[in-house]
Amino acid sequence: MNPRKAFTNCGVRCLAATLVLSAWAAWAAESEQEFERLREAMVRDQIAARGVKDERVLRVMRDLPRHLFVPPRWQAQAYTDKPLPIGEEQTISQPYIVALMTELLRPQPGDVVLEVGTGSGYQAAVLSRLARQVYTIEIIPPLAQDAARRLQSLGYSNVQVRTGDGYLGWPEQAPFDGIIVTAAPPEIPPALLAQLKRGGRMVVPVGKSDRTQQLMVLEKSKTSDRIVGRNVIPVRFVPMVGQPSKK
Ligand code: SAM
Repeated sequence: MNPRKAFTNCGVRCLAATLVLSAWAAWAAESEQEFERLREAMVRDQIAARGVKDERVLRVMRDLPRHLFVPPRWQAQAYTDKPLPIGEEQTISQPYIVALMTELLRPQPGDVVLEVGTGSGYQAAVLSRLARQVYTIEIIPPLAQDAARRLQSLGYSNVQVRTGDGYLGWPEQAPFDGIIVTAAPPEIPPALLAQLKRGGRMVVPVGKSDRTQQLMVLEKSKTSDRIVGRNVIPVRFVPMVGQPSKK
């Protein structure tokens, strides 16, 4: 082969590749900036405007790339004021509800937290930035596997995902400083209450149908196993399936 021709061909190919790569990099940077703008607006107009005040929660919601937790066809809507499909007939919760539940849980930097209902892994990622360790349980195996892969590849190394029935909790890691349930059981699961530390809090939507659910905060006394609960707002979550429904 003529060395000069080989050089010229490579030169043209290399130049084309460089142009494609720089165009892609410019497009990616622009999309990232656009997602940042959308996140900023989401926190201001959907979350802070409805009364969520905890600065730590607002900061995490502003930083966390929610678009990477939804399927590609829903990414453009990732920062809108609604839940979105994540496959297997399940949803990632509305951003305001994620922020409100996180604020109600009050996770502290040294805390160990349990989530029931991993779904996409987004709520677990939010908690991982506010607590020391997050354990999360998902009953649908493909969702649990996808969430575990996603959380690992994005660097949320203090989150452990388990496939299983959240009604049973995670006894090997109990007791927990906080428990958050992101699917609605008809009644408060007793195993979860038992796995809550004294002085700990549980945030859970409770109700038999999606028209009667109440978001509840339950607090265990610091000195006994006495529980005090209160209703926060009416909500609509997917039902918690698993053990009680088999009875
Ligand atoms: N927290 C999720 C997120 O950030 O994407 C959204 C949760 S989605 C509203 C509710 C999830 O709870 C679904 O993925 C569903 O499969 C799961 N689920 C329902 N019953 C469950 C159970 N008994 N144990 C564990 N997960 C359960």
